[in-house]
Amino acid sequence: MILPQKLSRRHFLTSAASLTGAAGLLNDAQAASAASKPFSFVFFTDPHVQPEQGAVEGVKLAFAKVNALEQKPEFVITGGDLIMDALEVGIDRVETQWQLWDECLKTLETPSYHTVGNHDVAGWSPKAMIKPGESAYGKAVFADRYGHGKTYRSFDHGGWHFIILDSIGLDKATNDYMGWIDDDQLAWLQADLEKTGKQTPIILVTHIPFYSVWHQVILGPKINIGGKALVNNVHDFRKMLGQYNLKLVLSGHGHISERIQFDKVVYLQGGAVCGMWWKGPVHGNPEGFLQVECRPDGTFSDQYIGYGWQARK
Ligand SMILES: [Zn+2]
Repeated sequence: MILPQKLSRRHFLTSAASLTGAAGLLNDAQAASAASKPFSFVFFTDPHVQPEQGAVEGVKLAFAKVNALEQKPEFVITGGDLIMDALEVGIDRVETQWQLWDECLKTLETPSYHTVGNHDVAGWSPKAMIKPGESAYGKAVFADRYGHGKTYRSFDHGGWHFIILDSIGLDKATNDYMGWIDDDQLAWLQADLEKTGKQTPIILVTHIPFYSVWHQVILGPKINIGGKALVNNVHDFRKMLGQYNLKLVLSGHGHISERIQFDKVVYLQGGAVCGMWWKGPVHGNPEGFLQVECRPDGTFSDQYIGYGWQARK
């Protein structure tokens, strides 16, 4: 549920420094030499593609905007909720949505890494139509097609380390999703951070945010936003993250543009490609995506970019 907010945010790229040219991912040697240059990437979250409301045209228009950016991004990280919904619909509808996502993705001219969102997970809902044991159940389709068999992973680029988490847990008591990083993933995360070391700047991506304040801004400080809005066990691994050079945590899910900075870490919610599920802008913030520029000194800047979508009436 998206609630009204008056916050609006624009952060502009401040550096006019040139980027590292070719759009393809770099090999290790190239990546090492690229560490001395700034580069940019796009964080493209909550496209929620579906057959209705011009969503396919909208996502293609957004990708066309990415392709045409003056400072060419070297890759795109999607932030989850790639399709409108797999939680509560049948297998045919899920497959239709994934085919539409593939159709859109073909128009993107840069490599892409994908984050799983709750709506990309089949059957994790009290109203589920897809049941355990069915081949499409859970995260199987996402992992096979978009995660090289996994729902979380990491990579290095231009002297920075990127970690894409799977923040979608299952509340077994209710068969509903919740924000959660499971134990296997936390063990992997710890090993991944140790391998990365304490100097390398890190950007972490999670569909469900670690923190958020806009609900309190709109509804008051005592609002309880429940287990689906935030990663419930973030406090268990906060100190582990704090030992490393974490710079930025990117999230989606709220369809809101929000920036929180605490200590040395910036937490950004990246708005939404679909706005309010293709029904218009969210609290004055247009349908769009983030472009982030990373610099060799471990600093970054970000800009929210609308792509000119007009919601269908
Ligand atoms: Zn979501």
